[in-house]
Amino acid sequence: MYVSTRGNYEKVKASEAIKLGMVPRGGLFVPESIPTISMEELYKIDGDLYQELAERILKLYLDDYSAEEVKDCVINAYNTANFECESMAPLVKLKDKTYILELWHGPTAAFKDMALQIMPYFLSKAIKKVGSEKEVVILVATSGDTGKAALEGFKNVPGIKIIVFFPYDGVSKVQELQMTTTDGNNTYVVAVKGNFDDCQSAVKDIFADTGFKGSLDSQGYELSSANSINWGRLLPQIVYYFSAYLELVKKQEIEPDEKINFVVPTGNFGNILAGWYAYKMGLPINKLICASNENKVLTDFFSTGVYDRNREFKQTNSPSMDILISSNLERFLFEVTNHDAEKISQRMKDLNTAGKFTVGEQTKKDIDKILAAGFASEKETLAVINEVFSNEGYTLDTHTAVAVKVYNEYVQKTGDRSKTVIAATASPFKFNSSVLEAIKGKEAIRGKDEIDIVKELSEVSGLPVHPGLKDLDQKPVLHKTVCEKDEIKQAVADILEIK
Ligand SMILES: *Cc1c(COP(=O)(O)O)cnc(C)c1O
Repeated sequence: MYVSTRGNYEKVKASEAIKLGMVPRGGLFVPESIPTISMEELYKIDGDLYQELAERILKLYLDDYSAEEVKDCVINAYNTANFECESMAPLVKLKDKTYILELWHGPTAAFKDMALQIMPYFLSKAIKKVGSEKEVVILVATSGDTGKAALEGFKNVPGIKIIVFFPYDGVSKVQELQMTTTDGNNTYVVAVKGNFDDCQSAVKDIFADTGFKGSLDSQGYELSSANSINWGRLLPQIVYYFSAYLELVKKQEIEPDEKINFVVPTGNFGNILAGWYAYKMGLPINKLICASNENKVLTDFFSTGVYDRNREFKQTNSPSMDILISSNLERFLFEVTNHDAEKISQRMKDLNTAGKFTVGEQTKKDIDKILAAGFASEKETLAVINEVFSNEGYTLDTHTAVAVKVYNEYVQKTGDRSKTVIAATASPFKFNSSVLEAIKGKEAIRGKDEIDIVKELSEVSGLPVHPGLKDLDQKPVLHKTVCEKDEIKQAVADILEIK
């Protein structure tokens, strides 16, 4: 069963948690208890590792889904029609003791595909199980990557409409074109004159707006979410922490049961939280290292115990991490305080009213045991792309570069030489201008549009252009709606023709 982080809702089954997206009165669903898994059993798997792991892990959390249903979801999502490569998430050795887990081989070139290729199947099955006759409207706030990944996952899925809000001027040209050229008979994309936090807060407010939801209800609609506030989005991300580990064992890079580190470029704290669940399930992890860009609200929180969003929001060259309110931290704090819903409700209230909250000494100590954190500036991000390209011949995207920089600093500071996996969250082609600038200097991008830069980056890096990013300039722009940040609810009403 799944419980609310704020203790304000009844326990629900997995399908209900996924269908609701978030707790209707505010709060997020988490599993009542975390299942464990035997590493011994996992070491014995051969054959299609990713699919087999996905089935075993998902089953433990989706216990109102039958084994066949889970298998069906896995087969439909994790195949070579959707992912460029057979292992789904390949592991590349960067240098001694350091590995890159490429999570961007799905259709939209960012790690969001790892979850959003399967989540629509969870949801379709959930709707059937719950026996709802309403049409489900998925509201998505995106800092750039979730939007397209969700559109691809949900387009043309019967019984579902999807509406995506992205920050106007806050995403790269490629990201914008990826979204605005999406076809499908149930897709809507709106540019918001605000930043990601504005989009996310508005969406959360709509979820908590009982009056508005009443109007939707009477017109035959109900809401759900494809953001990582939805458990169905977080859950599939647990799988690749295991797949990476098992691949290291298989390649004899590590001994079975050897503890390793994971470094995760972090925004909404979803990806790294999935790593924490993997750890709790029994994966031998030494440290989870949380890497932020100049919006380093998490780095500060982990060093001081004070979460303070009262600061300037910065637009950086790793835009998918430009976030000041990391939603999934709520889940993490709920977990590390042993499900103290009262405390969490109070902190979230503080965050809402004062823009900040503080955790106690003990909580901070508990967090420090497993989590380390750091950040990289924009300049450091570009420098590390250049350095890794020159030294290792590997092309990093900006988000992954933030992680590499934070990791290098972590090693210097701690001397911890445990083997380490760095999560690569996007293809370098997705953030092509910054990557080419980092490698060849500012002159190389001056006056060029992104489409040409993509081609040039392909020549310079020797990598083929990611299929999801090819020919974007040839496709018609189908979505042109722009709204102010206080008009998001109205935009939903207009699209759904709610009076
Ligand atoms: C979404 C995203 C992130 C941040 O992931 P969270 O789960 O929100 O912490 C990092 N990098 C890229 C490329 C992303 O798209």
